[in-house]
Amino acid sequence: MAAMKILFVTSEAAPLIKTGGLADVSGALPAALCKLGVDVRVLLPGYPVVMSKCSNFEVVATFTYLTGFPTSRLLSGKMDNGVPLLVLDCPGLYQRDGGPYQDTQGRDWSDNAKRFALLSKVAAILGGRATPLAWHPNLVHCNDWQSGLTPAYLHYKSGAAASVITIHNLAFQGNFPRSNVHTLGLPASSYSIQGLEFHGMMSFLKAGMFYADHITTVSPNYAREIQQDELGFGMQGLLNDRTAQLTGILNGIDEDEWDPASDPHLSKNYDSKNFKGKALNKQALQKRMGLEEDASIPLLGVVSRFTHQKGLDLLLEIAPRLMEIPVQLVMLGSGDVAMQNAAQNLAQRYPGKIAVMVGFNEALSHQIEAGADMFMMPSRFEPCGLNQMYSQRYGTPPLVHDTGGLADSVVDCNSTTLADGSASGFVFHGMTADNLHHTILRAVAVYKNNKEWLTLCKNCMAKDFSWETSAKAYLDVYNKVLGR
Ligand code: ADP
Repeated sequence: MAAMKILFVTSEAAPLIKTGGLADVSGALPAALCKLGVDVRVLLPGYPVVMSKCSNFEVVATFTYLTGFPTSRLLSGKMDNGVPLLVLDCPGLYQRDGGPYQDTQGRDWSDNAKRFALLSKVAAILGGRATPLAWHPNLVHCNDWQSGLTPAYLHYKSGAAASVITIHNLAFQGNFPRSNVHTLGLPASSYSIQGLEFHGMMSFLKAGMFYADHITTVSPNYAREIQQDELGFGMQGLLNDRTAQLTGILNGIDEDEWDPASDPHLSKNYDSKNFKGKALNKQALQKRMGLEEDASIPLLGVVSRFTHQKGLDLLLEIAPRLMEIPVQLVMLGSGDVAMQNAAQNLAQRYPGKIAVMVGFNEALSHQIEAGADMFMMPSRFEPCGLNQMYSQRYGTPPLVHDTGGLADSVVDCNSTTLADGSASGFVFHGMTADNLHHTILRAVAVYKNNKEWLTLCKNCMAKDFSWETSAKAYLDVYNKVLGR
């Protein structure tokens, strides 16, 4: 049988452009699928950083006829990992300073509907009979709201490819005024409850979830949670209706990029057999961040977007109590300005004990994974989460709230799980400051027992979070959708 052809549409892909976990997935899953013999091509908008890396790409199509959209071109080349890459070059929509979704002030681009409708539309053209390419995908794999209109556009083409949409975070829905239905070239009839209408708006994500042949999300637990009122973000009805076509697949991690044995960002590489090297990374991290260089004090790490979702407000609330244990805290992240300020104020109040760096810093994120003793993820909800898997690989037990992919990937440490070798972190139930505090105390108690702590760290490092397992699960979904 001919190789399955998949067009993977995404608004970010590491290492080219990254704001969060979607980029990690888009950088790694297509490569893992290629290894399984799937013929995958990634389609990505031509933001400035992307364009700067594809000067040798070949122009394979020009779209001058798409009503309502500026002229765009499709460039073809390869990502560094060898995966074929199609870049949608449309300077009027993508060539600007700022991020993929927001300007330099953190405001959403006012033309985001048009920017990501174009991405979706071109994906649908490539998945349709009239594609300008000789390569015809069997299935278009969309990701999040930014490519959510693709299944809607495909729905109105005959003989088009099948489609799957992956929800990386249901909280981001791409809801825009109704007038966009017309301007973005969709029929008026699509604006209905049985279509892309969502509470008086047109919803890109709902379009994807309604029209796609199958829906996946990034952990089995999150797949259950989003069918319920608390975490369904208003979409639980539709997701319940489509429960037979909804699959949760835990993300993998890029084990080359996140490997303490070869990570170029670390002061000292280490693995589970040479675990002592980890201590040097703690020392280097304390030094870099201006913390007291004390090997014995537990160092808690955070690398995160600073948003309500991530629950860091609880951590900040109990920080004064944590100082009494004592522990040290290092935080890297950005987002909510009030939360950034609160964190920075605490750093000023507790010099040498709390250190905060506001910003996005890839190297420091690796150094925190390696240098911290434990990694904090008190998220209110977390579709999958990657850092808790990175931290386990780095022998840095994560402390997580019992939600989404965190619950699927961390096994709480207790006498039973320590004895059977499955313990890999600490899980707290009930999103309160006291529960978080109590669990940190519990973790510190284990930390003080060197033997138990070492066992826990080594359990973490022995876990398999490779993409291969996840990619096979995606392949099963594709096969099911395509009736193979
Ligand atoms: P989300 O996608 O919700 O932000 P994930 O845990 O799925 O959360 O993925 C976040 C990714 O972004 C991880 O690779 C994490 O290390 C990275 N990241 C988040 N904030 C920063 C930061 N300030 N600097 C460097 N990397 C960051």
